[in-house]
Amino acid sequence: MKRIAIYPGSFDPPTNGHLDLIERGSKIFDELIVAILHNREKRGLFSVDDRRAMLQEMTQHCQNVRVDTFDGLLVEYAVQQKAVAVLRGIRAISDYEYELQMALMNRKLQPKIETVFMMPAEAYSYLSSRLVKEIARLHGDVSTLVPPLVARRLREAMRDRRTRLQALEPPTEAHEIDSSVGSVTAELKTRRGIRRRK
Ligand code: ADP
Repeated sequence: MKRIAIYPGSFDPPTNGHLDLIERGSKIFDELIVAILHNREKRGLFSVDDRRAMLQEMTQHCQNVRVDTFDGLLVEYAVQQKAVAVLRGIRAISDYEYELQMALMNRKLQPKIETVFMMPAEAYSYLSSRLVKEIARLHGDVSTLVPPLVARRLREAMRDRRTRLQALEPPTEAHEIDSSVGSVTAELKTRRGIRRRK
């Protein structure tokens, strides 16, 4: 029997951390379905179609990976796809509590589906789509955090966003930046400055 796993997420946008997990997952399952959650209540930076196109391009080298979208209950989608497992990533202890709760709830809803957790390479353990978006918004360098095609799409999205904001609104939204990322970016710049001075 073919062992199929679902790797669900928002992937807004997909990062090198997601790719790391996809590559690891594709080695232990016969088929891995990367399933983008179609959340009608929450609009992302990228449309679901854009995210799907990015994921398809960046996983081209993985023969047994397929990209799909779903809405509604994850376990129902998993059964429909004849999957045996759901793959999730654990980056740090902070992910654990939420992921444990989801895994146990999914098991209660559908005992046949197991949740498998995998850890990314250490270099990606601090990486999230949210941070990537905030760094891009602050014109930081995301080239080591996402594949080149995603970096290009991020630059375009930020340019479109700025044009839209300038055309429609006073510049209030431009200040709506998470302060923790402001400091992360400042720190990255300082580190780069230190390296250059050496
Ligand atoms: P969600 O909104 O479901 O958390 P994400 O796209 O943020 O969707 O993440 C999808 C899955 O990928 C989650 O299991 C998340 O823990 C995992 N993930 C996200 N970023 C990384 C990363 N840098 N390394 C490993 N796993 C990650």
